[in-house]
Amino acid sequence: MIFDPFELNYSKIRAYLDCPFLYRFIYVERKFSPQTPYSSLGLSVHRALAGFHARPGDLGDLLAYYEDAWLHQGYATPQESMEFYNRGAQVLENWWLHFQGNPAQVMYSEKHFEFPFEKWRVKGTIDRVDRMPGGLVELIDYKMGFEDKNNWDVAGSLQLSIYAIGLARALKLKVGAIAYFVLTKPEKISIPYDPAPEAATLDLIRATGDKMLAMDMSRKGKCERCSIRKLCGESESKEN
Ligand code: SF4
Repeated sequence: MIFDPFELNYSKIRAYLDCPFLYRFIYVERKFSPQTPYSSLGLSVHRALAGFHARPGDLGDLLAYYEDAWLHQGYATPQESMEFYNRGAQVLENWWLHFQGNPAQVMYSEKHFEFPFEKWRVKGTIDRVDRMPGGLVELIDYKMGFEDKNNWDVAGSLQLSIYAIGLARALKLKVGAIAYFVLTKPEKISIPYDPAPEAATLDLIRATGDKMLAMDMSRKGKCERCSIRKLCGESESKEN
């Protein structure tokens, strides 16, 4: 795929905010950040849920989507792969039970949006959009939940803020609530949507996009926590 500096999405912005060199590595040099067991498992579970929302069925169908969606990359040994596979299957079984007890009107899953913003095009794909009473929608992002989440995380999420603007501008939907669905609990952390921070979000998109265009590399992120620390020429930490 050709590098387009005027195309922005949350992952690209997140990478630059975490470290400009991470952004350059992934999006400009088009190198791959290696999968870890946790990132690989998260992708497999997301793909299984997307399959289920596209073609709903029973628990057996969900687990069949999971088997089809399973990514082998990122695991050091077949035993580790099997251990994580079983963890993912348990997560999906728990999600299934929660879904049965909390029926929802799922309008969209893996919903793509794109809207023009000044010289940029802002894109994204939303895990799930549910219908709410009164013509509103709830925007839901599935999180594996390897780190705890709370209401403040949802309220302060740049990702959810960009997605809410995308739903309103590209799909003309009125967002009534934003949520993280924490799969390992399983628990939905949902709060009413407040559009007040939208202007600040757009300011951040503009400022970050301008720095990317200028290739401003004047700072580094936390190398010891970075997924490419062993591959990055700027790394200050090559430890495991
Ligand atoms: S290893 Fe350090 S300098 Fe390199 S991308 Fe990661 S955070 Fe940035």
